[in-house]
Amino acid sequence: MDVAIIGCGYVGLVTGTCLAAIGHTVKGVEKDPRKLKTLQDGHCPIFEPGLQELLNENYASGQIQFTGNVKDAVRDAEVVFLCVGTPPKPDGTVDMSFLEGAGKEVCDALAEMNSEYLVTIVVKSTVPAGTNRKLYNFLREQTKAHVQVVSNPEFLKEGTAVQDCMNPDRIVIGGESPEAFRMMRRLYDPLIKREDNFMTMNWESAELTKYAANSMLAARISFMNEMTILCEFYGADVEDIRKGIGSDNRIGPAFLRAGCGYGGSCFPKDVAAMEHISKAAGYENLFTNAIQTVNKNQKKRFVDKIEAKLGRPIAGATIAVWGLAFKADTDDIRESAALDVIQYLLDKGATVRAHDYKGMEHMKQVFKDQVEWCTDPVTAAAGADAVALTTDWPQYTTLPFRKIAATMNQPMIFDGRNCLHRDVMRENGFQYFPMGRPPVE
Ligand code: NAD
Repeated sequence: MDVAIIGCGYVGLVTGTCLAAIGHTVKGVEKDPRKLKTLQDGHCPIFEPGLQELLNENYASGQIQFTGNVKDAVRDAEVVFLCVGTPPKPDGTVDMSFLEGAGKEVCDALAEMNSEYLVTIVVKSTVPAGTNRKLYNFLREQTKAHVQVVSNPEFLKEGTAVQDCMNPDRIVIGGESPEAFRMMRRLYDPLIKREDNFMTMNWESAELTKYAANSMLAARISFMNEMTILCEFYGADVEDIRKGIGSDNRIGPAFLRAGCGYGGSCFPKDVAAMEHISKAAGYENLFTNAIQTVNKNQKKRFVDKIEAKLGRPIAGATIAVWGLAFKADTDDIRESAALDVIQYLLDKGATVRAHDYKGMEHMKQVFKDQVEWCTDPVTAAAGADAVALTTDWPQYTTLPFRKIAATMNQPMIFDGRNCLHRDVMRENGFQYFPMGRPPVE
């Protein structure tokens, strides 16, 4: 099928490349001129494992192309995906301006085409309940084009996005027309391993499914993060508790890892949006409120623990921060825990030396010369009073710890992701403080 993708960020580029890989002809539209140039040169503007390789194949064969012009892409398209950002506004409500802008551009393109053919508009961006219905009504009012609108929320995870997109747990389609469901079934056919993985529902259910999924996952993390407080007080180990409850079929093992707070482009904004969607429905969502409060506190608690255990005033101390991306295998720093951790450390008067394997360039734009940027974690730790590990890059677990301990002012590590080995820390002479696990003091 001929597919247009409006917005070639994490979701749009992965979706477009995967759809090209399963045989569709894809035109990606990107309005950021720098990203567009990178894409037209055949390069990925984001770091996502496996994406560059898949893009190489499909770009070389012409299966996917990129343009800055919506009309170019919509002209031939049977299916038009809207994959633009829906970031949070400062008050936590959803900024719909990109989606409205893209919707208007698609509408103008359709109006000009004056085509008889049916075009399916797919809203992949995460949007509040009611958005798809509004978009449909808007398109029906503004153009005579034969259109249908479906909600198709995305569940991929950065870091494993290509794999998630090619092997989806489920595909959720919200809509009102059986013809639209058939169209989407055909589009996704090669990716549907079991019939019950393709789910159809109304627009609002699909829109809320996405917010419900992210709120549920964030809730599990916040729940375990709150458990770390009890674990540290009573001398329990949150990892044992994770295994103890995760083996219960009713609970399951996923998303129960405690740490110094969740981040990313989705959980924080979607939980905040859920709170506002609830307000719009006339009630205060106590649950999503609590998820966010625990998450905010956890990042602060992490820095408070550093201050309490440091053995010297934190003002004037040097702290090496290992990890800036919101998780391993991505360069995405949006709402990453490191943002808050670094800010709290700076507010307390500490000197921060930071390292990350992929997220450093983005973070430099935030903290500029307030932070010393280090090309490797060993250099970052040299001379420091403590290391604060905030991203679970696997590379951090296999560093030359003996050498690091020898070069630090005092060998002390605060493991905000519980990813280092306690015994290795002890054997190499570190004081080691994980989250909700017994420390090595
Ligand atoms: P992003 O910011 O990485 O990408 C959006 C892209 O759209 C940008 O490159 C921007 O320049 C481009 N754009 C904006 N307006 C445009 C227009 N009118 N024409 C062409 N291009 C335009 O965002 P993202 O992370 O890909 O997220 C997109 C949506 O998907 C959001 O609603 C997000 O909540 C949702 N989502 C994201 C993820 C994720 O892991 N990133 C996962 C699931 C769902």
